[in-house]
Amino acid sequence: MAHKVRVCPRCGSTKISAIRTSVSGWLVPSSYYCEECHYSGPTYVEVDSEEVSRLQAAMRESS
Ligand SMILES: [Zn+2]
Repeated sequence: MAHKVRVCPRCGSTKISAIRTSVSGWLVPSSYYCEECHYSGPTYVEVDSEEVSRLQAAMRESS
């Protein structure tokens, strides 16, 4: 069964991770960091695991 994975909105890599920022227990918006292209920002793309390779192919074609 497919599960959702986070991918980088810039390069489509799955090597994107949340940067945890907690200031005195307050919830602050997380940002996300991509190891592949060094993107960092507040958003990521969530796709089915089966769609990742298709998305990456599409991103390669458009760049
Ligand atoms: Zn990236």
